Amino acid sequence: MTTPVDNRSESDYSGKVRAISERLRSWSGPIVLATHIDPDGDAVGSTLALSRALQALGRATTVSLTPPRFLAFLTAPGELVPQLETLAPGTLLIALDAGAASRVAGVPLGDAALTINIDHHGTNERFGDIHLVDPSKAATAQIVKDIVEQLGLAWTPELATPCLLGILTDTGFLRFGNTRPAVLRAAAELLASGLDYAELTDRLQWRPQSYYPLLAQVMATVEFPLGGEVALARVTESMREDLSEEILDSEDFIGVIRYAEGIRVAVLLKEQGDTTKVSVRTRGGVSAQAICLMLGGGGHVPAAGATIAAAIDIARERVLTAVRKELDQTDRRGSPEPRR
Ligand code: 5GP
Ligand code: MN
Repeated sequence: MTTPVDNRSESDYSGKVRAISERLRSWSGPIVLATHIDPDGDAVGSTLALSRALQALGRATTVSLTPPRFLAFLTAPGELVPQLETLAPGTLLIALDAGAASRVAGVPLGDAALTINIDHHGTNERFGDIHLVDPSKAATAQIVKDIVEQLGLAWTPELATPCLLGILTDTGFLRFGNTRPAVLRAAAELLASGLDYAELTDRLQWRPQSYYPLLAQVMATVEFPLGGEVALARVTESMREDLSEEILDSEDFIGVIRYAEGIRVAVLLKEQGDTTKVSVRTRGGVSAQAICLMLGGGGHVPAAGATIAAAIDIARERVLTAVRKELDQTDRRGSPEPRR
């Protein structure tokens, strides 16, 4: 008998961790893990950590995921498949770090016998049969850490490295406001596995030599619209040599311009054919989440994103309109909102 999982309550976090762990332990069919499109460190890290944990319990798992080049060093040969066209009957699908069903990449969601949605985005649509969504967690990897421990596994470097990666990347290497005491404790416990921390943090920041001239071109586009309250940069297709391969961390460029003095909002526009990928970072009570919800996307209060079905110049206007609205609303609210 498995414990029924109560999707109506988000408050019983530990109960849900226990119930999901039981389901994972007792599932006899195939298990497939997947995450969001344009996977970042938390997407790759939380997925690999949970897959390796289930394998340590003797379960056969398949991970459908194409990592960006800067994260490929974390994966073992044959550990990933880029895409699954169908799922075998009786498959349990685990979606990690994906805020919406439409963002889950590389798997036909509708084929799954059971879908478990594990995430920390406040905007998560609570899709799937069972969802464990906790926006108070800094990373999905922090939730996976609790599941791995509930499964009774000891931390080895193979399990702990991807889990710590997810926590490090979603907290900006333990610098962002989501770096709460529990996050530092979790990071310390993972470090105690004996993983090679210097190697991990060094390799995470390796970039191909072609990145550096690209960085120069992107920084040449920086502008400060809306009276200097916004820093905005663009990555256009003509700048990128190889459009087929994602070489970068989404933080690479926005992580530079978000520290321009005097701004409250940083925006990066990335040209992708007729569509534009938007990344937004905010401070001072301004909500990147509210801005991106206006644009059809989602995310967290200080960091969010959207994909706009318009060319880059039109997308720029739409983004700035949304930013202006949110700046006005923030100023009317007066005091900063709590950060999540
Ligand atoms: P990034 O700018 O790094 O791509 O995304 C920042 C955060 O917002 C990440 O947590 C990411 O998962 C989320 N995010 C980015 N784009 C979208 C989107 O189109 N929809 C939703 N729901 N979340 C997004
Ligand atoms: Mn995440």
